[in-house]
Amino acid sequence: MKLGIIGAGIIGLQTAYHALKNNFDVTVYEQSSSLGYGASGHNAGVLHVLQPPFINRKARMAKKANPLYDRLSEELGFRVRRLPLFLVYRNTKEKTLALTAGVILKSLGYPVTRVERDEVLGECPDLTKSVNGALKVEGYGTVHPLEVLESLAKWVEEHGGAIRYATKVVSVEDTGKKACIRSIDTRECFDKVAVTAGPGVREIYNGYLPRIGFYKGVMVYTRLNCNAIIAPLISKSRSKKTKGGGIIPLPDGRVILGPSFSETNNPWDTSVTPEEAFETVEIYIDLLSHEPDIQGYTAGTRAKNLSKDDFYIGKKGNIIVTAGIDSPGFTASPLIAREIVSLASLP
Ligand SMILES: Cc1cc2nc3c(=O)[nH]c(=O)nc-3n(C[C@H](O)[C@H](O)[C@H](O)COP(=O)(O)OP(=O)(O)OC[C@H]3O[C@@H](n4cnc5c(N)ncnc54)[C@H](O)[C@@H]3O)c2cc1C
Repeated sequence: MKLGIIGAGIIGLQTAYHALKNNFDVTVYEQSSSLGYGASGHNAGVLHVLQPPFINRKARMAKKANPLYDRLSEELGFRVRRLPLFLVYRNTKEKTLALTAGVILKSLGYPVTRVERDEVLGECPDLTKSVNGALKVEGYGTVHPLEVLESLAKWVEEHGGAIRYATKVVSVEDTGKKACIRSIDTRECFDKVAVTAGPGVREIYNGYLPRIGFYKGVMVYTRLNCNAIIAPLISKSRSKKTKGGGIIPLPDGRVILGPSFSETNNPWDTSVTPEEAFETVEIYIDLLSHEPDIQGYTAGTRAKNLSKDDFYIGKKGNIIVTAGIDSPGFTASPLIAREIVSLASLP
């Protein structure tokens, strides 16, 4: 069975990996000459456990897919840093909220406990002493997104998959018997095509798609001393469209502050102004005991499903389409890939 995949982001590469394991003949088309052009190369690298609103498909997928990264990292060689999440509180009002949230999360089956200030500051000595305690959630992890993409691409090519870099797809069409991919100078037909083009899906696919919005997230790299992901229980950056960011230690010792959340018209926006970096640091400065040492910054753009706050994975004829794979799409990608390959196996 020949499978064409449009986009070498995390969804496209995980799909290629899983399809090759299931004996598909795989070709991936990528518009960029290197990996990581989209959100998959510009995200916070958190392997999530908790995902508001906790009960929808993307929340369940992330929770279930997260542990799969341990086996994948052993097989492919990228690093996973396992660490807890502390949802920190500072005053009595926030503590009461934490107690209530803890009970609800436990009843939903999440591994949550309440811990005192000493345990939080023990893991993260650079936090201010005004942190009173936290809800601790086990099972989180971080990765370097580009390292994951590179090791997946290497595996795919070593196992017979082809990745055509610098090949922008113009359109995909279903002929009834096949699905054909047209790039600027080629047209190639496959038994099935998976469109995993992130924000690029609209330009190439003219079937049904949910309404998509684009939201930029700025991430600032620092050198804080922290061995846990820290997120304020009540976040200045949390809204209905984002769960807010945090203080996020990466596998190489750098620590991210962010990501922030703002609307953009450019689906591939990775620009950061000094003002945006400053505003992102400001969200977390109250949690720190001193000014962080800034090492640099980056940004990525999320493609969110505005019709329904969930991932869209659909099949029409010989074409499988993904859209609105926002956070926690990186975490959930092994299961999204399995779903795409199951759909590709259907007539
Ligand atoms: C700031 C930020 C922080 C995030 N943090 C996290 C996190 O901590 N944890 C988590 O789980 N998720 C996180 N996410 C979400 C996660 O990054 C995305 O869900 C995921 O990367 C989406 O992957 P994708 O493969 O669908 O899209 P993309 O990564 O955008 O990949 C699409 C690929 O398709 C290619 N393409 C597009 N159009 C064409 C075309 N016409 N022809 C050929 N190729 C094409 C693009 O070049 C790109 O390489 C974050 C996202 C952002 C923006």
